[in-house]
Amino acid sequence: MIAEILSVGTELLLGEIVNTDAQFLASELSKLGINVYHQTVVGDNPKRLKEAILLALLRSDLLITSGGLGPTSDDITKEVVCEAMGAKLVMDTRSLTRIKAYFKQMNREMAKINEKQAILPKDGIILDNNCGTAPGGIVEKDGKIAIFLPGPPRELTQMFTESVRPYLIKRTESILYSKTLRIAGIGESRVEELLSDLMQTSENPTVAPYAKTDEVTLRLTARCKDDADGEALIAPVEAKIRAILGDAVYGVNEDTIFSCVLSMLKKRQMTVSFAESCTGGLLATKLTDLPGASAVLRESYVTYCDAAKTKILGVDPALLEDKGAVSYAVCAAMAEGLYKISGSDLCISITGVAGPDKDDLGNPVGLVYLGICDGKNTNVQELHFAGSRERIRNRAAINAYMMIRNYLSENEKKC
Ligand code: ATP
Repeated sequence: MIAEILSVGTELLLGEIVNTDAQFLASELSKLGINVYHQTVVGDNPKRLKEAILLALLRSDLLITSGGLGPTSDDITKEVVCEAMGAKLVMDTRSLTRIKAYFKQMNREMAKINEKQAILPKDGIILDNNCGTAPGGIVEKDGKIAIFLPGPPRELTQMFTESVRPYLIKRTESILYSKTLRIAGIGESRVEELLSDLMQTSENPTVAPYAKTDEVTLRLTARCKDDADGEALIAPVEAKIRAILGDAVYGVNEDTIFSCVLSMLKKRQMTVSFAESCTGGLLATKLTDLPGASAVLRESYVTYCDAAKTKILGVDPALLEDKGAVSYAVCAAMAEGLYKISGSDLCISITGVAGPDKDDLGNPVGLVYLGICDGKNTNVQELHFAGSRERIRNRAAINAYMMIRNYLSENEKKC
């Protein structure tokens, strides 16, 4: 099945908003094994919209539009799609009742013009909007399918997931089911080296490295009947990969190194505290971004200047003078000082040069020390990153969490 995505809205043409609807639809259609050959953007202009719709229906089997389902006179997508498909529009009383109920629930008066949104194709499939007013619809004619969806991304994604995806699955012979394995502590070329046989021989699922900033990921993609079939095809290949890479595979799909560390700490009922210099609170932010962080995060300090490292963490001023703030010894002293004041199971320190300029002592941009102290041992890693200030700080934060993760999995092995 060949598909085309048509996004309607002058805001898109002016570059005022990013076309996330098209991005979402393209990615969802590719997962269903549906080829998208064209993506078009057109403004709220009836003539050009009609031209775009007619062209799409000529060259594609499936047309999905987004936007232009509002109540005003310039919202004409549905009208033009239905005209092109020869579908008659009539008032759908069920949808009208739902729209009225939506306004009532929002405690708002429904304007008369909103009734227009309940005028829908007589012989089409009506797609309920569970988080907005405009219903979507599906019309079929002579082997062609046209689907119109509302523009607001929340409404579009929900409608697609709840109604359009199941509809399309029934019409496609197979879908693509993917699983992403997330890998830490091992470089991309080493992963490819270890898995080269598997990557070359495995056909269903295919195994391919997938580019992601600052991380190595592998995407396993199966052509299958449905999600359960896909999972069954992927399971044995995933098991082989896990046997080869061991606990370098830290998570799947939407997992992040941060969520993974949070659940590991929770599982072990351990607490963590941070003393940060160059990341300025980023380590704590990464954790507090996640629900449930309060179960594991105890304290967090931004000790940016030397005086703060002494005042809060008790770092010896002579050590700071002698070695400089960005040094192995000061990083260790920060973690140990934090351990004394916080009483956390794990204390993490970070000090480095985020740039864009070298520090006063001539330390290079991108030099970062990460420390971890558990009260018995203190370990410090020296790392070197390249790139902008933002990238250096992000990579430092990711590596700090990888350090925590490695500590936790190593300690589990010892137990
Ligand atoms: P409504 O019923 O809210 O009027 P609609 O279906 O008429 O919805 P539009 O009026 O075209 O949709 O867009 C409403 C809002 O949805 C836009 O202001 C924009 O914020 C967002 N939006 C529309 N199209 C897209 C898109 N392709 N990608 C991302 N956001 C979009």
